[in-house]
Amino acid sequence: MRTFSGKTEIYECENRLMKKSGEFRHNLDRGRVIEWDKNENPVRMVGSDTDITKRKNMEEKLKHLAIHDPLTGLYNRNVLALRLSDEIHRASRYQHTLSIFMIDIDYFKPINDNYGHQTGDTVLRDFAKILSGSIRSSDYAVRYGGEEFIIVLPEKPLLKAEELAGRHRKHIADTHFSIKNNEDINLTASIGIATFPDHAQFSQELIEAADSAMYKAKKAGRNQIKTV
Ligand code: GH3
Ligand code: MG
Ligand code: MG
Repeated sequence: MRTFSGKTEIYECENRLMKKSGEFRHNLDRGRVIEWDKNENPVRMVGSDTDITKRKNMEEKLKHLAIHDPLTGLYNRNVLALRLSDEIHRASRYQHTLSIFMIDIDYFKPINDNYGHQTGDTVLRDFAKILSGSIRSSDYAVRYGGEEFIIVLPEKPLLKAEELAGRHRKHIADTHFSIKNNEDINLTASIGIATFPDHAQFSQELIEAADSAMYKAKKAGRNQIKTV
């Protein structure tokens, strides 16, 4: 903040101005008071006014990249590592439940093999949109690996989580995913559910439980929902 009272002689402040176009310009104002009046108000200053918009935009991009997956725009594993243990702590303190889904697309490799990696990427982006479009604002989706996703559902008990996973499973199976040349395909996913405190006490254990449950769903024939 810029204050000229007392003996403050040097100032530095960042401000943001909205341009006519609606875009923001970020400024860095730096300077020094070189003359004061009797009441210690600044009379003359020297300094500079620098446009730091590019730097600010780059900082924003880096902040975004640190917590988001670049392909799908969903949160990345860093967010899961930071948030899930906190959420489990809170659930434990207030005697709440918390559920997670581990969702793995069935037979995804043949999509890359048949239509190419870029089309595979498009399908992954569309799949991520389906997930983020069908969760509540208190829940969040993470891209956990290549074609594996985790949804965290704070305060959701097992029975409710199973019901919701059923809706996700159906929604995924009913969706037509666009492939080049106006073709579309259908996909299915296998979903593993794990709930705190029923299946695990700590975040890593909870993720492992959801992963084992997801493999159970694969073994049972895919396009299914399982718990451990
Ligand atoms: P399953 O039903 O057992 O899950 O079979 P799957 O083919 O889905 O599983 P598998 O693990 O054999 O293959 C996953 C594939 O996902 C292999 C990998 O090339 C692909 N993949 C991982 N990340 C990406 C990505 O970012 N883009 C694309 N296009 N493909 C990816
Ligand atoms: Mg798969
Ligand atoms: Mg997989």
